[in-house]
Amino acid sequence: MADKKVYLDYTATTPVSPEVLDAMLPYFSEIYGNPSSVYSFSQASRAAIEKARAQVASALNAELNEIYFTSSGTEADNWALKGVLERMRNAGKGDELITTQIEHHAILHTAKYLEKINNFKVKYLPVDDCGRVRLEDLKAAVTDRTVLVSVMFANNEVGTIEPVGEIGAFCREHNILFHTDAVQAAAHLDIDVKALNIDLMSMSAHKMYGPKGVGALYIRNPIRFENFMHGGAQERGRRASTENIAGIVGFGAAMEILKSRLPEDAARMAKLRDKLIAGILARIPHAKLNGAEGNGRLPNNANFSFIGVEGETLLLDLDMKGICASTGSACSSESLDPSHVLLALGLTHEMAHGSLRFTLGRYTAEDDIDYVLDVLPEIVARRRAMSPLWEDYLKNLNK
Ligand code: PLP
Repeated sequence: MADKKVYLDYTATTPVSPEVLDAMLPYFSEIYGNPSSVYSFSQASRAAIEKARAQVASALNAELNEIYFTSSGTEADNWALKGVLERMRNAGKGDELITTQIEHHAILHTAKYLEKINNFKVKYLPVDDCGRVRLEDLKAAVTDRTVLVSVMFANNEVGTIEPVGEIGAFCREHNILFHTDAVQAAAHLDIDVKALNIDLMSMSAHKMYGPKGVGALYIRNPIRFENFMHGGAQERGRRASTENIAGIVGFGAAMEILKSRLPEDAARMAKLRDKLIAGILARIPHAKLNGAEGNGRLPNNANFSFIGVEGETLLLDLDMKGICASTGSACSSESLDPSHVLLALGLTHEMAHGSLRFTLGRYTAEDDIDYVLDVLPEIVARRRAMSPLWEDYLKNLNK
């Protein structure tokens, strides 16, 4: 094993930054009062939550009472889909959801559940070969039963940024609610929920140097739908459960810090990302970049396919060199199925199996990129030399 550690999996999760940790620490053992209690000791906990709400709201150009803290991005996604569809069907307004083939499983598995268990109708839009949804496909899919469109802001595997502004404008014009899963995008892009006509938006703190286990759902005023967590009256009666005060404080602090550094961080990361992409494409023959080019993808994402090798094998070889990367989303790397996202982009099973994702972050340095560019070409060449798939590929090329 190498002594060096190069972490290039910031899309899976990020470390809690030192400033965020400092902000959180008092809320474990010093300021621990239950925010719902009446005595003044608890008011400090309540105030901390409201400060975090203001930090998140102001970063998104949202109102204070449009931010609801949840336990994760997954919960926010579940709440948006289940809550809206149940409310709309009960009100006789329709029962159809339109989403995409490339969503995170937090959306896809929720959509499948709604379809199979609750008999809602769900349409899954295809994407182009960069992973972008076409507005024409959305327009063609909408019917008078459509009550919710859910299209992710940016994809977690290939980093492609979706045309959220256009989708938002279209949905607003047609009186259809628009939800976007911005769990990845919110960590890298300046998002103005009002300008983009977003009705509902999911976020997660651990993708932006905040703690794991805390997320938020933005719900535009005055939209109302069914609760997901039933119990106490927390979050203005819409999301029960005693608040994760330290986590929420960490989320607020992380969001404020992120916003203050955003343009510089994004530009720095994009430069390193472009160096990594150019270096890999130049040094590894028949390497393919998956997803959109330049500004069409998140500034920290580089996703490749190397025909003739298994992504899982590359991950283990890279791990031996101290490099952390991924072959898909953190959850899907527990399964050996090829990524649904790469298949939706039109990749063959072989190409999808040979995929590797590097995602950069705040602490990525240029010599981390140089190190990957040094070690990866040799790893791919060695694995290809042992691969019957690669041999077949070369034979077919020379035919
Ligand atoms: N949505 C997207 C696009 C994600 O990338 C993730 C996590 O990887 C999630 C949702 C789930 O977020 P959480 O880990 O906070 O449940």
